[in-house]
Amino acid sequence: AMYEAKADRRGVLVYERSLDGHSPSRLALLGELRQALQDDQLVLYYQPKVDVTLGRVTGAEALVRWQHPERGLVPPGDFIPVAEGSGLILPLTMYTLEAAVAQAKAWLDAGQAIQVAVNLSPRCLVEPTIPDQVRQLLHRHGLPARLLRLELTESTVMADPERALGALMELRNLGVAISIDDFGTGYSSMSYLKRLPVDELKIDRSFVMDMLAEGHDAVLVRSSIDLGHNLGLAVVAEGVEDEETLTALRALGCDVVQGYHLARPMPASAFTDWVVSRVPIAVAGSVTVEGAP
Ligand code: C2E
Ligand code: MG
Ligand code: MG
Ligand code: MG
Repeated sequence: AMYEAKADRRGVLVYERSLDGHSPSRLALLGELRQALQDDQLVLYYQPKVDVTLGRVTGAEALVRWQHPERGLVPPGDFIPVAEGSGLILPLTMYTLEAAVAQAKAWLDAGQAIQVAVNLSPRCLVEPTIPDQVRQLLHRHGLPARLLRLELTESTVMADPERALGALMELRNLGVAISIDDFGTGYSSMSYLKRLPVDELKIDRSFVMDMLAEGHDAVLVRSSIDLGHNLGLAVVAEGVEDEETLTALRALGCDVVQGYHLARPMPASAFTDWVVSRVPIAVAGSVTVEGAP
């Protein structure tokens, strides 16, 4: 029951079941993770989000990794679900928020206004102090609120819609941008989607990755783009792994793409180099890209 809210998230189910309840391995992992937070072993990688038509970088998604002293770089799927099942997700989230905001400010000071997106777990959205903590964080770092984006899944919102709505209104009023993440994997009702103060919808990578091979996924991608646009939202496709998918998404009117075909998540310094040196994505017609020859 502890992990019910994430029953729609593929890939992590097997792992979660094996670490369910109070198994010794789960408790050991939690202890190690608590220590990792204190020892600064968590690092953020950044993956660019790119404008489909202009090729401009519209932002960077911050994705946490655990630089483990023995096990190397541990992916978030191996520890976020466990943290989410305990109170540890709150300090962990504050840690990632702080690091992402500090990075966005460093980029801004270096002349690049790059919006950073941070993933917010269900527990965090219903935590009453979160909006105020975000406000203080932005103030402390001197980062304009519009350079921070929060990504929430449908299930995060639908777990407690009224409370989520209240928290999102507060965050939105600060000027923070908000996305619905992994769209298509949950079950949000249309009426809530319409009421949510979000400005971006991210189509889950599972649909995007299979859209050229699977008719059903192509239909889902197409209708998500239309739905998003009808609600006045920008639509992002995540998991773009090849040029053909990028071309198809452009034809469907998708606004922003994210995926290995553009770039893998990378450390902040590599991200900076990538932004400066990259060649623009192939664009139909003659479009000039900022900073490109
Ligand atoms: P997400 O928010 O949907 O993030 C996108 C995931 O897709 C990332 O996995 C990214 O590396 C991966 N990805 C990007 N492009 C491609 C592609 O072209 N192909 C494929 N196959 N994958 C692609 P990652 O970094 O392993 O993160 C997994 C999930 O962990 C994230 O899904 C997010 O739900 C969660 N997560 C990551 N960082 C944080 C965090 O700081 N806090 C919280 N609460 N959750 C986080
Ligand atoms: Mg995300
Ligand atoms: Mg996603
Ligand atoms: Mg996800």
